[in-house]
Amino acid sequence: MAPAEKIIKKVLEAIDPEELIGLTADLVRINSVWDPVAGTNEQGAADFVARWAAGQGFDVLQETVAPGRPNVIVTWSAGPGERTLMFEGHTDVVTPGDVSRWRYEPFKAHIIKGRMFGRGTNDTKGNLAAMLIAMTALKRSGVKLTGSIIGGVLCDEEDRMLGVRDFIDRGHADRITAAVICEPQDGLICTAQKGALRAQFTIAGCMSHGAMPLSGLNTAPGIAKLIRRLHDLEVTAVKKQGRDENLGWPSFTPTVIQAPASGAPQLNVMPGEARILVDIRTIPGQSHPAIIDDLTGMAAEIRREIRDEYRQYDNLLGQQRTHNLKIKLDLLTDRPCTLTARDEPVVLAADWATRQVTNREPGYGGVPGATNGTFLWALKNIPIVTMGAGDRQVPHQIDEWVDLDQLVETAKIYALTALHYLQP
Ligand SMILES: [Zn+2]
Repeated sequence: MAPAEKIIKKVLEAIDPEELIGLTADLVRINSVWDPVAGTNEQGAADFVARWAAGQGFDVLQETVAPGRPNVIVTWSAGPGERTLMFEGHTDVVTPGDVSRWRYEPFKAHIIKGRMFGRGTNDTKGNLAAMLIAMTALKRSGVKLTGSIIGGVLCDEEDRMLGVRDFIDRGHADRITAAVICEPQDGLICTAQKGALRAQFTIAGCMSHGAMPLSGLNTAPGIAKLIRRLHDLEVTAVKKQGRDENLGWPSFTPTVIQAPASGAPQLNVMPGEARILVDIRTIPGQSHPAIIDDLTGMAAEIRREIRDEYRQYDNLLGQQRTHNLKIKLDLLTDRPCTLTARDEPVVLAADWATRQVTNREPGYGGVPGATNGTFLWALKNIPIVTMGAGDRQVPHQIDEWVDLDQLVETAKIYALTALHYLQP
């Protein structure tokens, strides 16, 4: 059952667009790039949020994850009930890069024609402000809710996701029954996220003079075969899985191909070692352990093939040489894909809230990369939806921006999602 009109109106009226825009601007003006050399980190943004949230009467807990990198946990025990909804937003932003290429300074929060420009406006300080304002509006409106809301204001989402791991390790996720991941998805309700499997192949041959290749063992044929086989794996996966309606195609992409594996290349030196980095993105239905098996099997097979080929070639030339080629596989990242069922209460709540606020049929989508939600879903089985304001192509670009009308709409959607999810 949907909440009554009167209650909906009360909650929406408690959202002050100026307050939301002001809070976003305040957050954008705090440079929270994790940069140990420049000495910037999430501390300032976290302190600011902690003070602000305490001022609204929330319970606030600040926990240090790493030096200068705290999580802030904002809790509102709204009423008795089993459910706890988490809003998750991160405080870190990526580097602005070459600041001279920005039309508007990255940490000034310039507003031009309904858009706020600056690093983090889109990913994800605007949405972080929207979730805090949504929580505040619900509290101020005086509506009765059953259960609690937790605002997880976490550090280090952009790099190693230390913030969410710490949040889980300390047991905060144990009582969370659903989460809204506040990231720029342009108003779409995203119920799926691609998985990521990243690996390194190291191919060890034997270094030699470029004029005397027979005195060494070249890694190049191994590189060629690996690239070819990775493409074969991709084609097989594409044929088997098809295209996911929200996430698109699975992919096996060799991104870095280096020989020598380290140091400067030279034209007359045949490198003794090469490496290939592969970035595999998966969709629901693919098994990561099965892919790892495929990669391992592929490396062993290629090694055998190349040894045979070298042996045959050496026979042709009538020469002897050791064929001690090695191919090593190291797994660098293993993050599963996530899929939340459309009939989960949090998805139904987000769907209803989006209709209420926009008067439109909600659009559904998928997230191409991993977010903090990946860990909540994978490690704690928490149903997640990822949604928020901001063009999906804009994160990490220069002149990052967010549309302020969409941001206000987002705060309303967040508030009504919680209202629906925690209604008596
Ligand atoms: Zn983000």
